Amino acid sequence: MKILILGGTREARELAHLASGERGFDIVSSLAGRVREPRLPDGAVRIGGFGGADGLRDWLAANEIDAVVDATHPFAGTMSAHAAAATTELGTPLLHVRRPGWTEQPGDRWIRVPDLAGAADALAELGERVFLTIGRQGVAAFAGLHKHWFLIRAIDPPEGAVPTRHQLLLARGPFTVEQESELLTEYRIAALVTKDSGGSLTEAKLTAARESALPVVVVERPALPPGGTVVDTPHGAWEWLRYADRANPTDSGRFRPPGR
Ligand code: NAP
Repeated sequence: MKILILGGTREARELAHLASGERGFDIVSSLAGRVREPRLPDGAVRIGGFGGADGLRDWLAANEIDAVVDATHPFAGTMSAHAAAATTELGTPLLHVRRPGWTEQPGDRWIRVPDLAGAADALAELGERVFLTIGRQGVAAFAGLHKHWFLIRAIDPPEGAVPTRHQLLLARGPFTVEQESELLTEYRIAALVTKDSGGSLTEAKLTAARESALPVVVVERPALPPGGTVVDTPHGAWEWLRYADRANPTDSGRFRPPGR
C-alpha cells in the first residue's frame, strides 16, 4: 500500500514514524521546502511543490499512490484544497489529520478574527508593542501598521514586506511558559497575534498571555475542503490506514478505506 503523507507538521512526522518499516506499507512524506533546515520524518521524503492540483494528480498517478494523508498545518489551506481536488479526480482515498484548535480558558482576553487582515485591523484598538507569532508567512499583512512596533518570531526570516518598526527573533519551538513570560516582560509586549494552530508545541504563549492578562488576537483556521475523512491525531490516522488495509482489501488487493 503506497501512501503519500503531506507533511510539515509534528503529526506528519509522528505518522511517518508509526508507519515506517511496517510490512505492507510504502510511505513517502512530502515537504514544501520552505524551511531551510526542516525536521525530517522517518522514511522516504520528497521536497518541493507538485505544481498545483494538476501536478499533484499526475504525481499520484505516476507513483501509483493508494491513499493520501493530508497532515499539513491547519493553515496550509491551499495544499489541502489541492489534495482534495487531485484525489477526487483520481478516486484516491484522502484523510485529513487536523489537530484540534485551542480553547479559550477563564482569564483569556482573546479577540477572534477570520484572517490576517482582520488581525491587522484589530490591532488598531490595542497597545503599541505587539508579539507577532504567526510564523514566517503572512507578516506582510502587518506592513502597513506604522504606529505599532512588532516582535516577529519565526523559524526563518519572513519574505516580502515587513512592518517598518520591528525586531526579528529567529527561534523554533517548543517554548516553555517561563520563556514566553520572560519574553513578554523583556519586550514590554501589549498584545499578541497568533494563528489558531492548536497543539502543545506553541501553546505556552497563550498561558503566558493569560497570566499577564494580555489580549491575544487569534486568527481562525481556513475551512477544510469538502470530501475526505478527518481524524485529529496521528494515531487516528494510523488506525485508519491499518484498519483499511486489514479489513477492506478490494478484489484487486488495492487499498480501500473503511466504508467505501
Ligand atoms: P499552502 O499555502 O497551503 O501551500 C502553498 C503551496 O506550497 C502548495 O500549493 C504546494 O505547491 C506547496 N506545498 C504546501 N505544502 C506542501 C507539502 N507538504 N508538500 C509539497 N508541497 C507543498 O502551504 P503553506 O501554508 O505555505 O505551508 C507550507 C508547508 O509548511 C506545509 O507543508 C505546512 O504543513 C507547513 N507549515 C505551515 C504553517 C502555516 O502557518 N501555514 C505552519 C507550520 C508548518 P504546489 O502547488 O506547487 O504543489
